[in-house]
Amino acid sequence: MSNHIHYFDNAATTKISKDVLEAMLPFLNESYGNPSSIYSLGRESKRAIEDAREKVAKAINAQGNEIFFTGSGTESDNWAIKGVAFANEKKGKHIITTNIEHHAVLNTCKYLEKKGFEISYVPVEKNGIVDPKNILKEIRGDTILLSVMFANNEIGTIQPIKEIGEIAKEKKIYFHTDAVQALGKLEIDVQSLNVDLLSVSAHKINGPKGVGALFVKKGTDIENLLHGGGQETKRRGSTENVAGIVGFGKAVELTSKDIKGKSEYLETLREMAVEGLLKSIPDTIVNGDRERRLPGNVNVCFKYIEGESILLFLDQLGIFASSGSACTSGSLEPSHVLLALGLPHEIAHGSLRLSFSIENTEEEVKYLLEKLPQIVERLRMMSPLYVDSRKKK
Ligand code: PLP
Repeated sequence: MSNHIHYFDNAATTKISKDVLEAMLPFLNESYGNPSSIYSLGRESKRAIEDAREKVAKAINAQGNEIFFTGSGTESDNWAIKGVAFANEKKGKHIITTNIEHHAVLNTCKYLEKKGFEISYVPVEKNGIVDPKNILKEIRGDTILLSVMFANNEIGTIQPIKEIGEIAKEKKIYFHTDAVQALGKLEIDVQSLNVDLLSVSAHKINGPKGVGALFVKKGTDIENLLHGGGQETKRRGSTENVAGIVGFGKAVELTSKDIKGKSEYLETLREMAVEGLLKSIPDTIVNGDRERRLPGNVNVCFKYIEGESILLFLDQLGIFASSGSACTSGSLEPSHVLLALGLPHEIAHGSLRLSFSIENTEEEVKYLLEKLPQIVERLRMMSPLYVDSRKKK
């Protein structure tokens, strides 16, 4: 077991940065006032929340009063979709989304189906990108909302948000985008993109877990998700997670600096990994568009073996990555995203996702490229599928 950790799973979560932690600490300790209290200790917490709100707003070119803090990216997605659905059901009960959304969106849509809404799940193309024309085709007189993610969490593909925003504006339909993976990696401007609702989460950008935000454009007709006190201008009752929100604000501020420079660095690591894997491991498939993808995202399938087994071997070397398969009730289900690309089940099982951060180095990628071919080879030797394929050749 290696003592050194190589963390290549930044799309799952990230480490809280030193500056973020420092900004949060006072609000976990001496600055404990309830933001709703009128005395100075409370006002201090309130001020810190409003300061964080302005930072989140600035990062996406919104107004402070259009940002609402939530308990997670999942909550933001739920609120956006259910909130718009229930507030607008008299106008129509049809929603359009894609078949590669995060489960926070997909399962919210499934829930709404049970409540009498109709959902169109537009399939993506083989490269993992939706064709806006296919969204346009699904629009009907009773369509009230489009929900299309900014960038995919598994294969990193970037959706044509601007084109979809134009369609939504022209057809006067609300447009929500899940930008949880995009924040800090891509430039986001809710005004030029014609976005009405946008979800983000702190723990993907070196902020704390359990805090998110929803951008709701002024004038959007949306119901509240949580009913309680007057917090978040009466839109989301519950005493605020002050330290979490402050950490989110600091993380957003830091992540918004030099997006271009950071992206270029991440692209170097990504290309080094992809090229290296294609060269050293036969029967490797790159999932998702090679260019229109998040700068730090690598997603590949190694034919004949299972992703989960690769992860266990990597873990022994201190390499942390992720796979598209999820172990549900004893059976390995391949990811809905990989299946949406048209990959057969047996290939989708052999997926590996690497998601880099700027803390990763070329040396770490070299280490991975040195170790992974041996792991894949070893697993293939144990795979009946591989042995059969060799016999056929
Ligand atoms: N949406 C996307 C695209 C994500 O990647 C994630 C996190 O994995 C979420 C939503 C959910 O965010 P959270 O973990 O804050 O609930």
